[in-house]
Amino acid sequence: MKNVLSLGIAMLFSLSSLAQTATKHAPIFDVHVHASKINPNFANDMSPWFLSDMPGADPNEPMPKFLNADGAIQLKAAKTDKEFQDELIKTMNRLNMTIVVSGDASVIRAWKKASPTPERIIPSIGFSNDKGISVQAFEDSLKTGFYKVVGEIGLQYQGISPSDMSVDKYFEVAERLNVPVAIHMGTGGNGMANLTSPKYRASMGNPLLLEDLLARHPKMKVWVMHAGYPMIDEMVALMGANAYVYVDVAGMIWSYPLEEIHAYIKRLVQAGFGKRIMYGTDHMVWPKLMETSIGVIENAQYLSHDQKRDILYNNAMRFFRLDPEKYK
Ligand SMILES: [Zn+2]
Repeated sequence: MKNVLSLGIAMLFSLSSLAQTATKHAPIFDVHVHASKINPNFANDMSPWFLSDMPGADPNEPMPKFLNADGAIQLKAAKTDKEFQDELIKTMNRLNMTIVVSGDASVIRAWKKASPTPERIIPSIGFSNDKGISVQAFEDSLKTGFYKVVGEIGLQYQGISPSDMSVDKYFEVAERLNVPVAIHMGTGGNGMANLTSPKYRASMGNPLLLEDLLARHPKMKVWVMHAGYPMIDEMVALMGANAYVYVDVAGMIWSYPLEEIHAYIKRLVQAGFGKRIMYGTDHMVWPKLMETSIGVIENAQYLSHDQKRDILYNNAMRFFRLDPEKYK
């Protein structure tokens, strides 16, 4: 009897360990990751939802900090490139992730080299005006095949509308080469124009500014980064008029007040756009930001299981025309 029992227990344990190794995390697609060299002087710790209590500031006093770590939760900033890379790859494996990443090409190459699933790191190339990369160099970069996405396009930081003709040739290239495009629209934290980007204009984040661009390039696939926060009515109007526009919820989901974020995402879903919201982090220097941000979607009471899966994975697979079976 005793032997049978211990055999049973041994079987139970081996079965459960088998189940553990066999169970993969449901796949997650993060469409908004940044790769840059980490400067330990600027890599500060951060408390998520830090914009919940913006200070009453004055131009004659020291500028408010862009971030703060005063909240109940503190996310530690990585202090070296290696630390961030190791943590990212571990997290991607554990959470069964695919990411779209923009930024420093040498950092992206290093991540791909270190990853057991380099095809799940999808490089993206951005621009912020017509003064940086030339249109020809931009087209040549896309034609190498290394970059599969155009973004993050930071026109708003330069006070430029996405429909401004000075940058139309870049969009013409993206449309012709059939590469999806991601444009920063909306979020500016507390005092973007005062702190780091004097040309930043909140008005240039109005989603309706995309209309002329979309009309000129009907085959171009566009997603609005940060979901045009806080211009929800304009976002809903744009998505209603333009059936191919998707959004991501990056950045906003860990910086603005949690209730505000939920109200915004809820409104998009309520308006009928649950199939066009993609998960994004805006991952930069804090390794645990990934779990913190995914948790916002996973804990959303107003989303069904299927709606969460759409946001965390299915919608991006459809948007990027990828085979979901290959990334499961
Ligand atoms: Zn952005």
